[in-house]
Amino acid sequence: MTAPTATTARRLVSQRVALVGADGALRVGPACVDLEGARIAAVHDAPTSAPPPAEGAVVEDLGDRLLTPAFVDAHTHVALTALRGLSVPEDADRNLVEDFFFRIETAMSADDVRAFARMGAYEAILNGTALVWDHYYRANAMVAAFRDVGIAAVLAPTVQDVAGPGIGQLEEALAATIAIGGDAALADAGVFAAFGPHATDTVSPTLFLRIAGLAEQHALPVHVHVAQSLDEVERVHERHGISPYELLARSGLYDAAPRTLLIHNIFATSAELAALPRERVALGFCPHSKQIFAWMPDVGTWQGLGLPWFVATDCAASNDATNVQRDLRAAAGLRTAGLATSAAHRAFVAEGGVERARAAWDERVRERAATRWLGDTTALLSRVWSVPGGLHPAFRAGVIEAGALANLCVWDVEHPAFWPGRDPLRALAMSDTTNALVNVMSAGRWLGEHGRYHASVVGSDAYREARVEATRRLAEVEQRVRG
Ligand SMILES: [Zn+2]
Repeated sequence: MTAPTATTARRLVSQRVALVGADGALRVGPACVDLEGARIAAVHDAPTSAPPPAEGAVVEDLGDRLLTPAFVDAHTHVALTALRGLSVPEDADRNLVEDFFFRIETAMSADDVRAFARMGAYEAILNGTALVWDHYYRANAMVAAFRDVGIAAVLAPTVQDVAGPGIGQLEEALAATIAIGGDAALADAGVFAAFGPHATDTVSPTLFLRIAGLAEQHALPVHVHVAQSLDEVERVHERHGISPYELLARSGLYDAAPRTLLIHNIFATSAELAALPRERVALGFCPHSKQIFAWMPDVGTWQGLGLPWFVATDCAASNDATNVQRDLRAAAGLRTAGLATSAAHRAFVAEGGVERARAAWDERVRERAATRWLGDTTALLSRVWSVPGGLHPAFRAGVIEAGALANLCVWDVEHPAFWPGRDPLRALAMSDTTNALVNVMSAGRWLGEHGRYHASVVGSDAYREARVEATRRLAEVEQRVRG
């Protein structure tokens, strides 16, 4: 399978392009977007006054179709799509990652990983995601899978030296991170690297120190799970007498890496969050995954402290899906999530009466007023566009502006999911519009055919072959695990 190649120069013209206005708010207006290879070369606000397109450029007029940045899903394990439906909710009672995932992951070969990752990547692109920050084993197989499907990615090859399936691949994973991060041809194809220490209980303080040095030397971000399980908190306390956040702070990671992505943050105290350097970190929030693995983290505190945070899917294992729009909607729903357990509502449930009903409703009014930051369209979309698109020093994504990766979605705003189409950006933030995708571009390449996007991807020989191979390999892996 080969990925479609990028045409060198092209211009996209649309009457509805999602751009950032002078006030920082998103707006929709007519524009010409000039592309050069994998990047956006220039954006001209008014098509009538735009300079002529570059010599030999292909011009595509999208008419009234809406052109937006494609979604960025900044915490994924696309290969774990293979585990969807294999787990039962009871598995989550203790530590799903170790009890269940590690056992199966140990049985996967590099070719298995490539086959499974392709399926997760296909699901992502069919949902409008053109860039994932993925954390996984078998770096070369993962890069091959991204290129097979044509999705841009920041791969963090998973490293572990205390526990986990990656122990035997430690040196290989570090070397692969450095090699991918320095590969100009891969960067042209939209594939970048980050360092991927797994978590604070599977990576030793010594290895964290070493990664901090390497991240500084190679100017690569660090992508790490932190405070995601009770086991992690207990082990780090038992071994080192400190919390997961103290362990990370002592490694010097935040000063050394251009950016550290901290994923999950379930067991994070206010003091630990307040001590994080805002310019050097970004916090990952995966709502559906957390509903299964643990519970929703305290995003209100992150927001109150001014910490940058983004919304991501984590993985399709355990009832999740690689559809970050769905997770964004779940994040927006946090505005009233605590009210059922509020004292005011509890009092009404116990004793009833109009006064108590009014008190519960007053609580809702206060909560809504205190969470306006979750109601604003520009702010919501920033969690899957500009915030996760701005975390790597080698590129920008999630915005339509000169220099950014050409990662774009074209939407049919006449589709029922957008109708009557008066505020299409609000629909992107709050609705499920994936069926209205006309096409998706990743790193300058269209991933399907205009107007029959889903059918052209799912109906392709490449997809069919990928699915058949992944299905066969999954059956073989299951057989090996069961012995
Ligand atoms: Zn994860």
